[in-house]
Amino acid sequence: MFVRAFGANAADKPLEPMNIFRRDVGPDDVEIKIAYCGVCHSDLHTVRSEWGGTIYPCVPGHEIAGHVTAVGSGVTKFKIGDTVGVGCMVDSCQHCYACDDGLEQYCEHGFTGTYNGATADEPGHTLGGYAQSIVVKDKFVLKISHPEAQLAAVAPLLCAGITTYSPLRHWRVGPGQKVGIVGIGGLGHMGIKLAHAMGAHVVAFTTSESKRQDAHELGADEVVVSKDADEMAKHANSFDFILNTVAASHNLDAFTNLLKRDGTLTLVGVPEHPHPSPSIFSLIFKRRSIAGSLIGGITETQEMLDFCAEHGIVSEIEMIPIQKIDEAYDRMQKGDVKYRFVIDSATF
Ligand code: NAP
Ligand code: ZN
Repeated sequence: MFVRAFGANAADKPLEPMNIFRRDVGPDDVEIKIAYCGVCHSDLHTVRSEWGGTIYPCVPGHEIAGHVTAVGSGVTKFKIGDTVGVGCMVDSCQHCYACDDGLEQYCEHGFTGTYNGATADEPGHTLGGYAQSIVVKDKFVLKISHPEAQLAAVAPLLCAGITTYSPLRHWRVGPGQKVGIVGIGGLGHMGIKLAHAMGAHVVAFTTSESKRQDAHELGADEVVVSKDADEMAKHANSFDFILNTVAASHNLDAFTNLLKRDGTLTLVGVPEHPHPSPSIFSLIFKRRSIAGSLIGGITETQEMLDFCAEHGIVSEIEMIPIQKIDEAYDRMQKGDVKYRFVIDSATF
């Protein structure tokens, strides 16, 4: 079936309308009519081939929320009409030690991304959620239990939510801990909400003075404008954990120096250009760690969605028609988004 979508034909071309092919519903497949799709900075990095390796045409979008319109004969978990989501993955090998542990994002054979991943479907690579519908293997479909009226604001949980939830859980963030969230964008604003809900003392770091008040409202106990050296110095050697979501190259020492002994700075931002090498002295003298984390597994993504539904957590969004996508990318590049653009899929 052909459906309407928006995608790019080259790194230096704007997104444009296109018709894309979706496979017939197989025995294990779920067909989803997309209601909303969040706009992740990874979409922009990929469309503009900032990481290299983008295959065109490129239809991005991995924060998908919508409703089931058909299920295959072998599908028991979903039925027509269910409210569901799809995140960054649509397949993995299902038999390596990572998949066995429910950590499909670390699949030994490489997971299949929701876009720009290898597939048998036309045109040979996956096409994402900037489209009217998608067909996805049931194992990679998530149940959404938030009220229907919140669906647009739930979409960003599928990437921004899980990418911050997973490291906060892995490093056991909770009451009694001082936790930093760096960069108040799509990921960062979810990181603040989630770390706050997990009971930590949350400090938000931003380069934007204009986000100070918002950060408090999102759940930060303290807000630091990271360009202010005096404000930064007050927090030296005091953090258990810092989650860094910044999408651009910057000096990491400014944050490792804020960790206590044995503290960890975990990077989830993937800038186009590398960060300057961190100071080894800063690491060895306090046994500090710099780590990385990639989205989250399917089981944990479901756990995150249920946690958010239970705690009334959704994303702060600005809804856009698909025709405004290039403008949205330009604003995201400048850090001018409060705090996630979401495409209204009725506008295709
Ligand atoms: P975003 O909405 O653009 O937010 C990034 C934030 O970083 C900005 O709002 C800004 O916050 C800060 N920032 C941007 N440029 C900066 C600069 N030059 N100097 C200092 N701070 C800057 O992006 P996002 O969607 O949250 O994604 C963030 C990064 O995570 C991207 O690189 C994305 O590809 C990556 N990502 C990784 C994973 C994973 O699995 N690891 C998953 C999804 C996304 P302030 O205004 O507060 O400073
Ligand atoms: Zn993403």
